[in-house]
Amino acid sequence: MPHQQQLQGTCLCKSVCFTLDGGISGVRYCHCSNCRKFAGTSPAAWGMAETAKLNVTTANNKIGKFNSGRGIRCFCLNCGSPLWFESIEYPHMLAIPLGVLDNDRLPAPEQHIWTQSSPSWCSIHDQLPRHPNYPEKTPE
Ligand SMILES: [Zn+2]
Ligand SMILES: [Zn+2]
Repeated sequence: MPHQQQLQGTCLCKSVCFTLDGGISGVRYCHCSNCRKFAGTSPAAWGMAETAKLNVTTANNKIGKFNSGRGIRCFCLNCGSPLWFESIEYPHMLAIPLGVLDNDRLPAPEQHIWTQSSPSWCSIHDQLPRHPNYPEKTPE
């Protein structure tokens, strides 16, 4: 169930601020090596949002973009904070790192994905479903 609320996202230095109408859904922990590098830790918690619901409220010239293969990882050019992931396979959807969002009440992660890539220093301490790679029909 998507949360019908408006969410606000900011990078560390607040050069990039955005809102998301309609909230996020499909929240998951990703253990893949790309997310590990992008986030600087593992797992990375992501929620899905509709691309059309993203509204950047600051200038776009602070948004850096890097193609990591399956999509474009967007980040703040000033402070380096991750901002969102633009899927190439599912261009109508974005993945948002939960830590970018400023709202206190966000839906909890529902699953772990790419656990086969999880580093030895990462332990899972919950009973959520675990997928060794990528479950079908769910964009990252
Ligand atoms: Zn920033
Ligand atoms: Zn990942």
